[in-house]
Amino acid sequence: MALQLRPNCEYCDRDLPPNSGDARICSYECTFCADCVENKLYNVCPNCGGGFTARPIRPAKEWRAGLSIEKRPPAD
Ligand SMILES: [Zn+2]
Ligand SMILES: [Zn+2]
Repeated sequence: MALQLRPNCEYCDRDLPPNSGDARICSYECTFCADCVENKLYNVCPNCGGGFTARPIRPAKEWRAGLSIEKRPPAD
């Protein structure tokens, strides 16, 4: 199963492109920016009460055959 990459912070609506290093996700893949997680949410997901981890970056270029943004666009 691939992660569902959401394109915006759910709190401030900041753009979080798939190659952004500022995206944070909880175990249910609720997606927020690092700024909101640290300063607004205090590392607790407002949807499910869980903690956050940095979202892995999905490379824009095709790193392995078939695994890229072009081949697997992020869901919206
Ligand atoms: Zn945010
Ligand atoms: Zn959550």
